[in-house]
Amino acid sequence: MWNKIDKKTVPLILKFKRMKKIILYTLLLSFFAQCKTQKTISTVEKKVQNYTIDRPKLMVGIVVDQMRYDFLIRFYNKYGNGGFKRLMNEGFNCENTHYNYMPTHTAVGHASIYTGTTPSMHGIISNNWYDKYQKKSIYCVDNSNYKTIGAKKGGEKSPYRLQVTTMPDQLKLAQINTGKVIGISIKDRAAMLPVGHSADAAYWFRGKKDAKFISSTYYRKELPKWVNDFNTSGKAKDYLKTWTTLYDINTYTESIADDNAFEIKFKGEKTPTFPHEFPKLMQENKNYDLLKTSPFGNSLLIDFAKAAIKGEQLGKRKVTDFLAISFSSTDYIGHRYGTDSKEIEDTYLRLDKDIEQFLKFLDIEIGKDNYTLFLTADHAAIPVPNYLKSKKIKAGYFEMEKFKKQVKHIAKEHFLSEEIIADISNFQIFLDKEKIKSLNLNYEKVTDIIANEIITFKGVYKAVTAITLQKTNFTEGILHSLQNGYNQKISGDILIVPTPATVYYKDKGSTHGSGYSYDTHVPLLFYGKGIKKGTTKRFVPIIDIAPTISNLLKIESPNACTGKIILEVLK
Ligand code: ZN
Ligand code: ZN
Repeated sequence: MWNKIDKKTVPLILKFKRMKKIILYTLLLSFFAQCKTQKTISTVEKKVQNYTIDRPKLMVGIVVDQMRYDFLIRFYNKYGNGGFKRLMNEGFNCENTHYNYMPTHTAVGHASIYTGTTPSMHGIISNNWYDKYQKKSIYCVDNSNYKTIGAKKGGEKSPYRLQVTTMPDQLKLAQINTGKVIGISIKDRAAMLPVGHSADAAYWFRGKKDAKFISSTYYRKELPKWVNDFNTSGKAKDYLKTWTTLYDINTYTESIADDNAFEIKFKGEKTPTFPHEFPKLMQENKNYDLLKTSPFGNSLLIDFAKAAIKGEQLGKRKVTDFLAISFSSTDYIGHRYGTDSKEIEDTYLRLDKDIEQFLKFLDIEIGKDNYTLFLTADHAAIPVPNYLKSKKIKAGYFEMEKFKKQVKHIAKEHFLSEEIIADISNFQIFLDKEKIKSLNLNYEKVTDIIANEIITFKGVYKAVTAITLQKTNFTEGILHSLQNGYNQKISGDILIVPTPATVYYKDKGSTHGSGYSYDTHVPLLFYGKGIKKGTTKRFVPIIDIAPTISNLLKIESPNACTGKIILEVLK
């Protein structure tokens, strides 16, 4: 009997002892955990107690139009220490930043960077699009309610098509309209959309016969003295000089041969090669817009940025001012010569020098610890498709005119009416809904049939109806990008995703617009007050810039922001 009890009791006692150990261990663990929690709480409390609203004196946003991320790497060894390298090494580099929508065009990119959301919310669905309410094609910032200031034409513009607020708008609201907000660029849309609705001014370059920075009566009645002074200084005209390479062209080993079949010549040039003699070309073209397609367009903008800082006394007040700069010449040059040209290499080496000089200016004028800056691009670009083809890489050109005919043919065949097709643009088909109604057709069926029929067209990778985008939630991949670019009130009825590396463009030069990585991968560098030193390889969507900067500036994010704070960047 004892034996029996003993045999059963011993393991029970052992079990009890083990349980006691576990209980004790658990108690200890929870005790430590509690201590840790208390410690975390007390650190948070301490931080809150020390909370100070210490904003930078000047916030500078820089967009480099059409800059691919790999330009930071490809030309790295040729950059000086004070330009891109300074931002990369002393600031924070988000190496894997992408646009998360299509189409990747200039107006859309600038709007998305500064609103922290995609076209589905901010309403800038392209540069130009078919306005289905006005039944005509429009340009994103055209507005005949306003007049040009500084020239006869070119300033009848406003940002009214932008449906939401931008970071600078929120800064204005947070500081009860006391900080100054200025946007500058060669392109009107790139000057206006970043700064949003409540900006003090946006200025952009008008070439033609003027060679001036101009604006719109949307902002003010006339140009301020500093802009007039800049315009009469003759700087713009002086920059129209012969473009030779900054260094010996034979050292430009990061680009293809200067004389190649993938570049567009200027009217008056025999070959698309250096030197580009702008004074001579001016005689032929009689248009200062030539300056836009030279690296001197960037230098001119740097000079204008400095004049803006001095003229508006930016960074000199108790509050924070915002200067949004967008370099456009990089885009014009990419479109003409392609991403792998000697011209692009030279443009970036020169821009590096311009940025170095500008940072030095900020150090002196604003003070090293008084400004914060970010640099990104509004989209990247594809290498010239014909160049890719010459390297046996699959690429192609979308035959838009043929496609338009085909769509009309489908409409005629199935619905006995070509008129149901109102417009085809930006890889979207807009239908005439009234016509569809008058013909007693079913809208959903019409879109389904057209989408099913056009999928066989060369270069069409996907054809998706607007109804599909309204009823389905795509969380990743190219259809997620398409959905982010789709605005139910503004966009078309059938949306097309072209095949990778298929563009609708001339057979020479680079372009952009797709949702593929060659168009979506852009640089994102943060630098200055409140910014940590470091890098991340994590995927960062472009819409994360606005909430990050808003947090740094201790202001509310733009009112329709869908991005998240990039935690690693902020101190
Ligand atoms: Zn652009
Ligand atoms: Zn472009």
